[in-house]
Amino acid sequence: AHANAQGFDFFYFVLQWPGSYCDTSSSCCYPTTGKPASDFSIHGLWPNYNNGGYPSSCDPNNPFDISQVSDIESQLQTSWDSLSCPSSDGTSFWTHEWDKHGTCAESLFSQHAYFQSALNLRSSVNPLGGLSAAGINPDDGAYSLTAIQNALTSSLGHTPGVQCSSDASGNNQLYQLYICVATDASTLIDCPVFPTSGCSSTVLFPSF
Ligand code: 5GP
Ligand code: 5GP
Ligand code: 5GP
Repeated sequence: AHANAQGFDFFYFVLQWPGSYCDTSSSCCYPTTGKPASDFSIHGLWPNYNNGGYPSSCDPNNPFDISQVSDIESQLQTSWDSLSCPSSDGTSFWTHEWDKHGTCAESLFSQHAYFQSALNLRSSVNPLGGLSAAGINPDDGAYSLTAIQNALTSSLGHTPGVQCSSDASGNNQLYQLYICVATDASTLIDCPVFPTSGCSSTVLFPSF
């Protein structure tokens, strides 16, 4: 693949499972807007290089401006909520994500286009449905990593990176999905490189 004008090769569209985020020893705080849905939510849309490296914090002169996304703010609150503590309305999370990752795609995407693209991607995939179709549900059960990967590959048409975290007792849990997307921020592609997985052969899928 050719690097685009800003020098990156593709995006990772990263989704997080809220139940696993909340089960870590640092726990979580529900957003000021209330408990999120029991579904994957957006962590970020991250420019990446094919060699696994990535640019970050590319333009301190283009800080996040909430007024640029006022028309989609309620959709961001629903799909790109923040579970870190203390409780927040998402603004600080979006600020961090734009400043660290979004600015590295600013020659291709305005702040509005960047966040809109992430929302469009979120609407275009249904990983929870794909897992459910294979009998894999957030029921605190243990599932084979291979079964999870196969179900997600069938559902998405491409194999995502699957990342696990540890709960407070050290159990391996399904945490993040890294879905690879072309530099148009909409076309799903085969991943040029996968992130560190951290998953065991059997992983828990916690309820939320
Ligand atoms: P961690 O070290 O917790 O996996 O990641 C910390 C932060 O580094 C993430 O929130 C993200 O901003 C960035 N990061 C980690 N891995 C990757 C990656 O593979 N690609 C990109 N673009 N960013 C990453
Ligand atoms: P790790 O131990 O996972 O390789 O990286 C630790 C931290 O270093 C990550 O959380 C991330 O913030 C940063 N990091 C790792 N690789 C890269 C990279 O290629 N580019 C940038 N900007 N930061 C990186
Ligand atoms: P990253 O640097 O890995 O893209 O994003 C991680 C940063 O976003 C951390 O500083 C973390 O505290 C903050 N953050 C706020 N809300 C969330 C959330 O719901 N999930 C994750 N993974 N990080 C969040």
